[in-house]
Amino acid sequence: MRQERLFRTEGIVLRQRDYGEADRILTLLTPGGKITALAKGIRRATSRKAGHLELFAHSQLMLARGRNFYIITQAESLESLEPLREDLLRFTYACYAAELVDSFIQEGEESSEPYGLLLQALHWFAQERDLRLWMRYFELRLLRFSGYQPELFTCVRCLAPLQAVENFFSAELGGVLCHRCGTQEPSAKALSVNAHKVLRYLSTRSAAEVRNLRLHEGTHAEVETLLQHYIEYILERELKSVAFLRRLRRELRALERERSLKGPSPSNPGARI
Ligand SMILES: [Zn+2]
Repeated sequence: MRQERLFRTEGIVLRQRDYGEADRILTLLTPGGKITALAKGIRRATSRKAGHLELFAHSQLMLARGRNFYIITQAESLESLEPLREDLLRFTYACYAAELVDSFIQEGEESSEPYGLLLQALHWFAQERDLRLWMRYFELRLLRFSGYQPELFTCVRCLAPLQAVENFFSAELGGVLCHRCGTQEPSAKALSVNAHKVLRYLSTRSAAEVRNLRLHEGTHAEVETLLQHYIEYILERELKSVAFLRRLRRELRALERERSLKGPSPSNPGARI
């Protein structure tokens, strides 16, 4: 972070908590790093900053260096990501992305790449249809920036190039094991050929290529479970928003089933569960 007492930067609100009578403490990701900043009077009805500093707001900020944290003196939205606020599922995906970034990026760490990635991700979660696919793409890229990219091309035990057969994945060993090594490793779980291909595809392709990908439900579920287990293993705790997302999806599915029993409904342009 720069040394001037007053400076301008753009930022994204990752987390917020109430402070005092009318203030809020925000965790912000900026291209220069993750910071904690005080937004004074933001909970008053008359606050001019409030609308520009909501969760996931992408704003231009003027910050003053305070004794304990930064103080936001001005804030102005750079864009509005309305769908994230209007759709609970999209909102929850954005929460999960923000929670992951907050967990992986420490204050004082360089963060221009994670910043660019999170900004892209907020657009994906506001606009795309297959949110699960974009979350997997986001997770793999964040893992790469954080130095935890899983090994997908050579066996993490014997270093042999991996073949397109059923292999194994071990969170503890940080990647895929060949069939022979995998059967002897207690921490390894079977990895289907399809899920392995999807992981490789998402790790190496551009967003435009990912947009054309269509996954079967089984592959989706397998890749999701694998990556979430891997991430929880790295972070050594269960992520709050993952638990909430699972519950929300179950409820939405039950609701969809109920609707389909009642006959055809108008086409739903919303996100896929
Ligand atoms: Zn091996």
